[in-house]
Amino acid sequence: MFKKILIANRGEIALRIQRACREMGVQAVMVYSEADRDAKYVKLADEAVCIGPAASAQSYLNMPAIISAAEVTDAEAIHPGYGFLSENADFAERVEKSGFQFIGPTPESIRIMGDKVSAKQAMIKAGVPCVPGSEGALPDDPVIIKRTAKAVGYPVIIKAAGGGGGRGMRVVHTEAALIHAVQTTKAEAGAAFGNPEVYMEKFLQNPRHVEIQVLAAQYQPAVWLGERDCSMQRRHQKVIEEAPAPGIPRKLIEKIGERCVAACKKIGYRGAGTFEFLYENGEFYFIEMNTRVQVEHPVTELVTGVDIVKTQILVAAGEKLPFTQRQIEIKGHAIECRINAEDPYKFTPSPGRITAWHAPGGPGVRVDSHIYANYFVPPNYDSMIGKIIVHADTREQALARMSSALSETAVEGITTNIALHRELMVDAKFMGGGTNIHYLEDWLSKRDR
Ligand code: ADP
Repeated sequence: MFKKILIANRGEIALRIQRACREMGVQAVMVYSEADRDAKYVKLADEAVCIGPAASAQSYLNMPAIISAAEVTDAEAIHPGYGFLSENADFAERVEKSGFQFIGPTPESIRIMGDKVSAKQAMIKAGVPCVPGSEGALPDDPVIIKRTAKAVGYPVIIKAAGGGGGRGMRVVHTEAALIHAVQTTKAEAGAAFGNPEVYMEKFLQNPRHVEIQVLAAQYQPAVWLGERDCSMQRRHQKVIEEAPAPGIPRKLIEKIGERCVAACKKIGYRGAGTFEFLYENGEFYFIEMNTRVQVEHPVTELVTGVDIVKTQILVAAGEKLPFTQRQIEIKGHAIECRINAEDPYKFTPSPGRITAWHAPGGPGVRVDSHIYANYFVPPNYDSMIGKIIVHADTREQALARMSSALSETAVEGITTNIALHRELMVDAKFMGGGTNIHYLEDWLSKRDR
């Protein structure tokens, strides 16, 4: 096992990884930007290194600064968390070339799966069903683009090969709007992701977002840990996640889980990963793979009892998975609410000083958050300040538990979306289960405030 790991991230996930390290008897080195100097996990770290000013480009995305921090502290491995450099194949390569272990898949796997076009091609080869669409990236020729859209059938969605975080996507309903949409998405993708390639998919009308968590060690069959339903989204970004996905036949999910395991073998996958699917009319369609730990990993941890972050560290150190597929059993139901520092009605970010913080508790309630009273939420990063996750025997009990947990949570000094979550936990349709990816936005547009 490693003696020392460097955590190249911030916020709740930095704390989550630090906790895993501490339990495993591994020292944790934190890197931080000037804006995160006072963070709780920085104070708690065995060692901490400032890697630059607040701007991510100069700190959390600054590869030389992170690698030198690993060098001066004698860390053996680097955990990238999610976001920032976690899915950057060049970073993974530089980490390994500098003699450190990257806690994640190989640079080649990240490269293949990080490009959504090559990921889809790899999945088709591995026998995983995909959303119908263009064969690879779209060419420049407008005639071919129009012909492709006609064959796929409107509405279509134009997606950036290098896109992520719900950005770089545009829905097109008519041929008249097609070419302009392709050009705009290309220009945006080039500027935002450094890769102007776009591809086309059929825009599914009422799908749910259902994803499969996998864990893989080298020379050993991968294991899938059930599914998560992440259909409650705003602007293609997840707001609430749960496991298992309500109302989907187990047999269908098992078939897809097994396909994902087979795909891992085919691409030589290692570490934690998520295969994301859209689910409509009883069919699963692959959309992308995330080659890292995800924000919503705790719901899977609660229903399976597997510690995903510790397992990532174990397999990165060359150890075997401490469980087999047969030992994975889904117990009860888990729900996660992402708590964001934002206006619950207008969604404008609300950074600033937290004057009071009362976390919920009790049986089956987990809080993954780095905030504390008097903590200053910097304006420089994502607005998520933590997650409340509950686990109970049934979905109905989990909903009641989440409602109760939210009602005793207090964050003062900034505004948060807790009020929104409280309304959603008692919404009749959401309580019924199985709402699709458009439900939350429709609900928000009809809300009379
Ligand atoms: P990102 O990498 O930005 O998260 P994804 O490819 O995972 O992008 O898509 C994010 C979300 O966008 C999905 O969960 C879904 O809500 C929507 N989406 C993506 N592709 C389609 C599609 N073909 N039809 C309908 N919705 C889609």
